[in-house]
Amino acid sequence: MNPQTLVKDGYEQKLKEMTKKVLEGSEITREEAMFILNFPSEKIEVLFECATMIREKFRGNKIDFCAIVNAKSGLCPEDCKFCAQSTKWKTKIQRYPLLPVEVVVQKAREAYEMGATKFGIVTSGRGPTDKEVEIICEMIIEIRKKVPGIEPDATLGELTEKQAQKLKDAGVSHSNHNIETSPRYFPKICQTHTYEDRLRTIKILKENGIGVCCGCIFGMGETNEDRVDIAFELKKIDPKIIPINFLNPRPGTPLESIPVMHPDEAAKCISMMRFVNPSKQIKVAGGREVVFGDKQDWVIKAGADDLMVGNYLTTPGQDYKKDWALALSLNLELPEHIREKAQIVSGNLL
Ligand code: SF4
Repeated sequence: MNPQTLVKDGYEQKLKEMTKKVLEGSEITREEAMFILNFPSEKIEVLFECATMIREKFRGNKIDFCAIVNAKSGLCPEDCKFCAQSTKWKTKIQRYPLLPVEVVVQKAREAYEMGATKFGIVTSGRGPTDKEVEIICEMIIEIRKKVPGIEPDATLGELTEKQAQKLKDAGVSHSNHNIETSPRYFPKICQTHTYEDRLRTIKILKENGIGVCCGCIFGMGETNEDRVDIAFELKKIDPKIIPINFLNPRPGTPLESIPVMHPDEAAKCISMMRFVNPSKQIKVAGGREVVFGDKQDWVIKAGADDLMVGNYLTTPGQDYKKDWALALSLNLELPEHIREKAQIVSGNLL
């Protein structure tokens, strides 16, 4: 047996031991997480097999969908280097203040039709004014009345205790507030606020009983050590949902020339996150289409159990019916309210 084969088998053996460990309820180490990021790409199907076993054990065979609306676009004074909505960068995007309540309620209806069970009201800016929170609370109350099947979420940046309480009282379900990257790399991505500022808002959300959706963006020039740190930071934060975004370099931002991640590398990031956070709802959101192209099934095979459908904040997403067909092709259970419709619609796509 040639040494190469020995090495590869050694890789497989080690991965299977790690999988057994996680399935039996134990945690993997940082070294083991790094091992996943360095796993040989020619054996990626073995990684998918193991990640799928963990997803099925802890998350079952369901897939969840969410959708968002960019409710206030492009008016942010912060300097996040990946973000087209910062007024610091010359980007060609629409810029507008908070949308009217009925427009956002209509977007929630459309999200429900696309199969989403959660709908995120997203505003650009470091944090909302009290007046904006008042209007967003109205949106949440109207959505709960007029689109009863969907959970209204709010992603508004930094919040005060009072604002968080108002949102909770209005019926907000979850709030997304990402750490974006590792504590070490954060100052390289943003200087106008800190990693600690982000942790403070996450704490306020938790203390006010709002479900935390907290994740990251891979592919911004961070190292593999940073990627492992991100997964273990999220383990510590213990959010309900972990969204994984991949950098889709926006023209005009400082990260515009960063190459798009290779699907192998991106898939290993998802699997590493699944091994480190086996019981979490792991969502793949922004950058999914540009990174995985016609390998969208890798996103689920690598360990995710949730997709953002429809458009992103400033870039288009693929046709949501393709996501229905993708989920059905992998024998996943879709959100109840679209199961029948999806079978019919996807019949033509599969
Ligand atoms: S705070 Fe949010 S909206 Fe503002 S630049 Fe950063 S990511 Fe973009």
